[in-house]
Amino acid sequence: MSALESNLSKVAALLERFRAAPLGHFIAGRHERGASRDLIDNLSPVDGKIINQVVSADPQDIHAAATAAEDALPAWRAKTGEQRRAILHKVADAIEARREEFALIECMDTGQPLRFMSSAAVRGAENFRFFADRAPSASDGQALPAAEHMNYTVRQAIGPVAVITPWNTPFMLSTWKIAPALAAGCTVVHKPAEWSPLTAMMLAEVMTEAGVPPGVVNLVNGVGERAGRLLTEHPAIRATAFIGESRTGSLIMSQGAPTLKRLHLELGGKNPVIVFEDADLERAVDAVVFMIYSLNGERCTSSSRLLVQRSIYDRFIERVAARVARLKIGHPLDPETEIGPLIHARHLDKVLSYFRIAREDGAQIRIGGHRIEALQPGLYVEPTLLTHASNTMRVAREEIFGPVLTAIAFDEEGEALKVANDTPYGLSAYVWTSDTGRALRMAHGVEAGMVWVNSENNRHLPSPFGGMKASGIGRDGGDYSFDFYMETKNICLAFGTHRVPRIGV
Ligand code: NAD
Repeated sequence: MSALESNLSKVAALLERFRAAPLGHFIAGRHERGASRDLIDNLSPVDGKIINQVVSADPQDIHAAATAAEDALPAWRAKTGEQRRAILHKVADAIEARREEFALIECMDTGQPLRFMSSAAVRGAENFRFFADRAPSASDGQALPAAEHMNYTVRQAIGPVAVITPWNTPFMLSTWKIAPALAAGCTVVHKPAEWSPLTAMMLAEVMTEAGVPPGVVNLVNGVGERAGRLLTEHPAIRATAFIGESRTGSLIMSQGAPTLKRLHLELGGKNPVIVFEDADLERAVDAVVFMIYSLNGERCTSSSRLLVQRSIYDRFIERVAARVARLKIGHPLDPETEIGPLIHARHLDKVLSYFRIAREDGAQIRIGGHRIEALQPGLYVEPTLLTHASNTMRVAREEIFGPVLTAIAFDEEGEALKVANDTPYGLSAYVWTSDTGRALRMAHGVEAGMVWVNSENNRHLPSPFGGMKASGIGRDGGDYSFDFYMETKNICLAFGTHRVPRIGV
């Protein structure tokens, strides 16, 4: 039996349970069918067939989940950091024990290749371990002594939080939000994307089995415009941690305004990778190809705008195109596959529409530019390289969120920086040069929350992750996450020596 056949038979057995009944919610430690009759078909990107049905939450379900999170808060917040650390390590153990299941299900639900989802499952466990170890010190504050007073700060969990996640790497992204929230002492209501709901339910179950008490993590399924909106408006929810499109982020901001919710928004990007003529071109080609074509290009930090110095433009494009031609397109469960199908027919249409737009705007399609008809009904597009583009074209300005790279030539450093910054987005940027001074000038000048010099997106969990401009508000990672999930409180104690103002004497 081939590895693909073996994975297909494993995943068929794993999906059986999801086919048995519509997938509902997970509230206060129990599976709940919910009151709603609205069902969503969860379709497979591989063959367009229904994997299972999902119940879309109605206001009663959202209220039940938010109330469960509110009720569970005092006991969870009162646990010591060491107690939370122990439970969250058990969650990490349980994820590791079932990492193959998480990876296989994720691939079928999203179309992401197994080679990437296997490491994403492991990363999910790492996220829990990383924040578990920081739980005991999460409340530590600062000592701020004054002449006659002792000020000190402590951090306390903000309260029940909403975690709303997208479909591109849903499991890993859910853990990236839920782990620090739990470590901080918050309780959670998670709403996963309606196009990829399966691993979220598995995660809720695993957390509960590992000892996270009932109500501390709750899950509601449903469409964003209704279930998500109701959750972000609910008065019991104190903060919303959101990952998704910039347009949705702006809606969530206004939805949370009447209840003054704290917000963390991780949004879209149109990230430049800037390659200078003095770069190590071998490594730059590797990074450029990896950062746009891995994860099917459905990656917020993908380097979707390639800015190449004109003196090496033709040579560099030649090398990138040769690699694109050799990308292995196939079934997501085949360990050899590098490019899988896109998540949904609506998303496929969006990506395909940019091939027409590219032609209309005058960019050249160097390679790709079509749906892969032979793999129908799978939602496959050819990995595509657009060349001779200018930064005013829509393919250079809009987030395509597929395996599509837009290449633009530049002449000198100042122009590269101007083009890099001429975008509504500001998530990440990548600079390739062997000139340290230039690397520093570019890194400081570029408007992006994260800059990688001579590197692809290389994650380091204590470092801040997040974007500027339309790419988001706030940072995740290490202590930055705790700043979001916790309130900083200042406590001021008098030495008893200062003069207290007297009035009405
Ligand atoms: P999306 O904004 O359509 O949906 C994200 C989530 O929001 C889903 O769960 C959806 O149901 C929910 N939602 C939709 N409307 C809502 C509303 N009005 N109120 C509350 N919730 C609502 O995004 P998507 O298409 O699922 O994901 C792709 C986007 O996510 C891309 O733009 C990508 O760049 C971005 N993304 C960003 C990061 C990051 O870290 N910056 C990471 C991954 C993905």
